[in-house]
Amino acid sequence: MKLDLAFIDFHTHNVTGVVAPRAIASYSLPQIIDRPEGQYYSVGLHPWDTARSNAYRSVEETLIKYLADEYCLALGEVGLDRLRGASLGVQTELLALQLHLCARLHKPVVIHCVRAWSELLSVFRKVKFPGNKAVHGYRGSLAILERLLDDGWYISAGFYTPAETILRIPLARLLLETDDTKQPIATLYAQTAQLLDSTVEDLQTMVMSNIRRFINQEE
Ligand SMILES: [Zn+2]
Repeated sequence: MKLDLAFIDFHTHNVTGVVAPRAIASYSLPQIIDRPEGQYYSVGLHPWDTARSNAYRSVEETLIKYLADEYCLALGEVGLDRLRGASLGVQTELLALQLHLCARLHKPVVIHCVRAWSELLSVFRKVKFPGNKAVHGYRGSLAILERLLDDGWYISAGFYTPAETILRIPLARLLLETDDTKQPIATLYAQTAQLLDSTVEDLQTMVMSNIRRFINQEE
C-alpha cells in the first residue's frame, strides 16, 4: 500500500495538539496506549525507556502489533543515548531486536542518537537493516553527517540543528520536525527557507515529497 499523505512535520511529541494529519506523532511504547484513533504515528522503545524493568518484554510482546498497524508509519524513535537510559550494551541489544522486528514488517526507522555514533553504525552494519533510515533532531558533527549521507540516511532537522549543518544536507534528504518544542512547524519552515534561499512553498513541497518517499520506502 502506498500512502499519499502530505506530512510537513516529520517527528513531533506534541501528540495532543492540532498536529494530525500533517505531522507524524512519535510515541515510546509505554505511552502508545493513549494514542487517539486515526492518528499516524511512529513507535518504538525510546532509549530513555530502556532502563525500565519490562523493557525487553514490552518490545517482544507489543511492538510487532503496532508495527503491523496501517497507521504506524515507522519504527522510532529508537537508538542509542550515552547520557540516559540503560547501559549502551543493553541499548544496543534492544535496538537490534527492534530493527529485526521492523525489517520483518517492511517499515522504515527513525533514530535518536547521542554520543554513540560508531556504536550506532556498527549495529546497522550487523543487522543489515534493509529499510529507509532517518536520524532525527540531528546535532552531530559534520564528519558524521557525511558518513550518514554516504550510507543513504535521511536527516531530520529541528529548531536545534545548526545552520551550517542544514546547509550541508542535500535537499532530497532533508526532513523537518518540531520534536518536543512547542513552536509551530511554520516557524521552522520560514527560518529554513530563508537559510536555504528558497521559498516556504518550495521547501514544503520538497520536504513533503521526501517524507512520502521515506515512508513508502522508495529510492
Ligand atoms: Zn523526539
